[in-house]
Parts: sequence; C-alpha cells; structure tokens
Amino acid sequence: MIRLENLVKVYSTGKIEFEALREVNLEVKKGEYISIVGPSGSGKSTLMNILGCLDRPTKGKYFLKDVDVSSLSDDELARIRNREIGFVFQAFNLLPRLSALENVELPLIYAGISYSKRIKMAKEALDKVGLSDRLHHKPNELSGGQKQRVAIARAIVLNPSIIMADEPTGNLDTQSSIEVMKIFQSLNDEGATIIMVTHERDIAQHTKREVRIRDGRIVEDKLVQNRVVY
Ligand code: ADP
Ligand code: ADP
Repeated sequence: MIRLENLVKVYSTGKIEFEALREVNLEVKKGEYISIVGPSGSGKSTLMNILGCLDRPTKGKYFLKDVDVSSLSDDELARIRNREIGFVFQAFNLLPRLSALENVELPLIYAGISYSKRIKMAKEALDKVGLSDRLHHKPNELSGGQKQRVAIARAIVLNPSIIMADEPTGNLDTQSSIEVMKIFQSLNDEGATIIMVTHERDIAQHTKREVRIRDGRIVEDKLVQNRVVY
C-alpha cells in the first residue's frame, strides 16, 4: 500500500535549512493499524503531511499503491489525496453551521456525487460510527466523542485506501477516547488501513504496530505487545 524509500524532508527558511526527516524507510501493508509516536518536534506531522499527500518529500521516494507520489504535480497530488486518504484531526474540523449529515456530505459534494446518492452514502458512514440517531444535530449539540465520530464518518465516506488520524483523542476525555478508539478498531477489523499519530502511550497500545520517530529518524518499529482490545 505504502512504501517510503530514503525519504528526506528539508525545510528552508531563508538561509537556514532544517532536516525534519532523514532517510526514512517505511512499508505499510493493506489492513495495518499503525501508531506513529515520538516527542514534539521529532517529525511526526511532517511525516503525516507527506503520507497524506499534503506535502512532498525533498528527496527519496513515496509509493502509494505503486504510484510514485513524490513526482506528481500539485493537481495530481490533490486528486490522489481526495481519492485515497481520509483525514481525522485532533480538533475535529467540523463546520459548525452544518448538521452531522451535511458535514459528512461535504467530501461527496466536492467529488460531484448526486444528492440522493450523497444522502445514502453519508447516512451509511454515520451508521458505521453509531450516529444514525444524530443525523440532524449540529456539532455544538454533540459530545466531543460524537463530534470525532462525525469526523471519522466524513473521513471514511468515500471509502479511502488509508485513514490518517493526527492525535484523534487529543481533545477528548477518557470515556470519549474509548468511544473513538472502538470505532477505529471496528474499521480496522473490517479491513481499513489506519495510521495514527499520538503522544499517548495507551492510545498506541490499541494499534497493532508502533513506529517510533526521533529527530527525523525511525528509531523503533515493532508489533504492539499486549495490545488493548475492547
Ligand atoms: P512533530 O509533529 O513531531 O511535533 P513536526 O513534523 O511538526 O514534528 O516538526 C519537525 C521539525 O521540523 C521541528 O523541529 C519543526 O520545528 C520543524 N518544522 C516543521 N514544519 C516546519 C516548517 N514549515 N518550516 C520550518 N521548520 C519546520
Ligand atoms: P504538532 O502540534 O503536530 O507538533 P506543530 O505545533 O509542531 O504541530 O506545528 C504546527 C504547524 O506549524 C505545522 O504545520 C508545521 O509544519 C508548522 N511549523 C512547525 N514548526 C515550524 C517552524 N519552525 N517554522 C515554520 N513552521 C513550523
């Protein structure tokens, strides 16, 4: 599904160059459930931005389903991103004036899908995250865990190849975190490939593989032992 080969990312600000990723090699197979962990500033966001086709590497190669993403134009990158990647963010990033259903419909509108098909697909996605009874609620009428589940429904509604989640439980209390991690687990059980950035050890314990990054390098890549399953 994903292959990174000697990936380097250099940020240049004026004359100053900073190597945020240094010769990263990583392979992710379909159906994996991975956490990327590491201290602040270690390069997690940079790696996610590249994996999510939001940014390009400075050197090295990124193959996504055997397409060399590193060489694509901005338009091609956007197209592959919209088709292949579903994003979940720490701050939910829902539009406050829209209902749950309308928030989930948005990517379908951008994809040019007809109204009746959109409603059907959005309802199915909300059903998968257990929110069939909250279709017409606005974000401020939902709990933190419910908001994040709407965001997950939005991320999966176009059936992406990969779900990328950046600190998805960072704004949630323990109970809501459990709610959200159960959803990720059930999506992975159904075959979804999930890559999750997290600071929290117990969140990483729910995933199947832990990739530890430090100073722009992968320093550990291991199967999660004693995985926590609800
Ligand atoms: P993390 O997500 O692990 O906190 P980041 O990927 O955000 O780490 O950042 C890795 C390093 O790259 C940090 O030292 C950060 O300051 C630097 N960095 C990130 N983005 C930029 C940028 N746009 N320009 C310059 N330096 C950056
Ligand atoms: P995170 O909370 O994920 O670690 P950061 O606070 O490190 O994120 O960075 C937030 C945003 O700011 C990122 O998009 C990153 O690219 C950018 N950024 C981080 N460090 C720098 C920097 N030194 N110069 C410019 N942009 C930066």
